[in-house]
Amino acid sequence: MLRSKVPSIVAKRKLLGQTDNDENQSFIKCVGSNDDDDVRHNPKRSCNTGRTALISIRNSFTFRPNLKLVDDIIRERQSHDDHIREILNRPFRIPLKNYTGSYRSLGIKLSGPRRPLFDPGAPNALILYEPPPINAQEKLTKKDYQVHVVVDPVLCNVLRPHQREGVKFMWDCVTGVRINDQFGCIMADEMGLGKTLQCITLCWTLLRQGPEARATIDKAVIVAPSSLVKNWYNEINKWLGCRINALAIDGGSKEEIDRKLGSFIQTIGRRCCQPILIISYETFRLHTDILHSGDIGLVICDEGHRLKNQENQTYIALNQIRAKRRVLLSGTPIQNDLLEYFSLVQFVCPGLLGTSAEFRRHYENPILKGRDADATENDRLRGQERLNELIRLVNKIMIRRTSNILSKYLPVKIEQIVCCQLTELQRQIYKEFLNSKELAKVIRDDVKHSTGSRGGGGNASLVAITFLKKLCNSPQLAYDMIMENKEKKRDGKNAADLDFLLKHFPNDFNSLRGRQIEPTLSGKLKILDTLLAYIRHETNDKVVLVSNYTQTLDLFEKLCRARNYRYVRLDGTMSIKKRGKIVETFNDPNSMDFIFMLSSKAGGCGLNLIGANRLVMYDPDWNPANDGQAMARVWRDGQLKQCYIYRLLSTGTIEEKIFQRQTHKRALSTCVIDNAEEEEVERHFSLSELKELFRLELNTKSDTHDKLNCKMCKIIGQQPPADANCTDDLTVWYHCPDKRNLVDQILKRVWDQGITYCMHQKSHIQKDIP
Ligand SMILES: [Zn+2]
Repeated sequence: MLRSKVPSIVAKRKLLGQTDNDENQSFIKCVGSNDDDDVRHNPKRSCNTGRTALISIRNSFTFRPNLKLVDDIIRERQSHDDHIREILNRPFRIPLKNYTGSYRSLGIKLSGPRRPLFDPGAPNALILYEPPPINAQEKLTKKDYQVHVVVDPVLCNVLRPHQREGVKFMWDCVTGVRINDQFGCIMADEMGLGKTLQCITLCWTLLRQGPEARATIDKAVIVAPSSLVKNWYNEINKWLGCRINALAIDGGSKEEIDRKLGSFIQTIGRRCCQPILIISYETFRLHTDILHSGDIGLVICDEGHRLKNQENQTYIALNQIRAKRRVLLSGTPIQNDLLEYFSLVQFVCPGLLGTSAEFRRHYENPILKGRDADATENDRLRGQERLNELIRLVNKIMIRRTSNILSKYLPVKIEQIVCCQLTELQRQIYKEFLNSKELAKVIRDDVKHSTGSRGGGGNASLVAITFLKKLCNSPQLAYDMIMENKEKKRDGKNAADLDFLLKHFPNDFNSLRGRQIEPTLSGKLKILDTLLAYIRHETNDKVVLVSNYTQTLDLFEKLCRARNYRYVRLDGTMSIKKRGKIVETFNDPNSMDFIFMLSSKAGGCGLNLIGANRLVMYDPDWNPANDGQAMARVWRDGQLKQCYIYRLLSTGTIEEKIFQRQTHKRALSTCVIDNAEEEEVERHFSLSELKELFRLELNTKSDTHDKLNCKMCKIIGQQPPADANCTDDLTVWYHCPDKRNLVDQILKRVWDQGITYCMHQKSHIQKDIP
């Protein structure tokens, strides 16, 4: 050791240079001002802390001239806190894309200017009718201008994209927009796509709104198999609650039914207190006299393929109903029987395919003739032509989607790999650990002792890997791990000796433990903190936070408390019922929860967290399937917002190496792994792999990008192919050494807090839903 570095000499020099007294006083002041809570609740404890701190600060001065002190940390935290507070307190800006605010209900007024019932400009509004534009002058002079028809947000907010499309389709059909003077349609979606909800939405809108600023219909009838009557009633209740009172006729005496039906038919206009009648086919047929005695705005026939035969009693009874708007539901595909086809279309849109005789002459005969075994080429072509014509016509009034459409209706997902710079403290500890004799011994021993053909990787290297991963997450976690090992050793247990790293921490670092979060100590944590602040301030998005370690989730909790974010945390021990409850609450757009914390180990398989559309994977998992699972929590059926995935990696560290293994096909083929076997993976490294794993790449913006040998970035302006998506190789992702080409505006703002590189890609190109 150089004489000048000997502690006693250093201490003397220090004493000459400055007075310890000043430093001590400022330290005490600092602790005091940050400890208000403690002083109040536990004066004795705070006293003690003060006293130990005094001694330890002297020690730390004597021995470690270059050391960052706790008050440095606190000072840095304060300036960081100021920055975060500034973000959160900025005056509100024009919301970003994806922002969905609250809507304002506009009531219909009997007098005064016409207004739509709901705000067509509201985010996520489903507009069924858009009136021709009108200027302010006309609005004053013309009293009868048309208004927007906008689906009640209460329903609109629960409709999936394909359901919105379905509702719009049916609306256009029953209001005669699609085909002039025809007011019917066939809704033939497969099971599971929510035909019922789409129909309820249509009914509710027709009962309340119209382009003329009044209800389009005053009552509707739903005819269903008797087994489904109750189901319809419950569904209406579920979605509309007390907004409407449906009349379900499900048995009872003939007199009673007659009385109820009579009053239903006779009341008209706004006086209808039960504007929706749900009735079985059988009961309908038995009471046709009453049901045919009045006009009905809309009739919906569930399991409508019962109406495939024009000759049967039910068909005749229903067809005589005085309702021009008719919707027929059918989950089973309509058979290739042309006559059935004709019957169904004829019920909803009479005359669309001509009379029965015309239909036979124009479509049925030529089509059948073309299919005949001895048909000429000419017959065949003519048959095909007529069939195509028929399909084209029927498709104008029929909508059918299969359940595999759900995936293509998902909004775009942007996946982003974000490399975050280590802090100076992290880098110092990391370097020292890698250069230590202890690590060299770990590698040597493990390789020597391990059995099996694969060679390396054992318990000790597992400890080393865990230590580095925790250090990347936060030096606070690394510190805790050092202390735990120290305690274990003191109790005579077998544990790694990490004490030599303690010198990087101020002696009184312990005073920060447990109580406070120090986002500035960890590169990733600082990015996360800033990211959350911007998301919180500029959007109303919710966030799912995923980490491998429960200790990291503990840190997140502290962060949330420090920033006043409402959060929930899924616990592995939680009962299914409790899980369901917190998930439901979180997904509720009205709930105040901002963050959902999830341990990647606890699974969360099957969890539906569509209330959030941003997900942060704070640390990489060895198993790509785990990360994929996590992302599927938010990007799934029912998600309406664009999704942003942030995969945070500490630049140049073991995290990048883990990520590379994950993306490497080799990783998949050589270690077939499932959820519970991460430790197994970590045990199966060869010596050279271990050495690679334990190398810190210092002079890089992204080790992962370096390893790609990217040709794209060598040519200025070169972009990945437009149709590339995030399941493709990283070589066709967007590579961003700076923030210019980011698509996520939030990440752009966070960049300067220490992001060194970003690679991003989208899931698919968004197709507009008509
Ligand atoms: Zn590149």
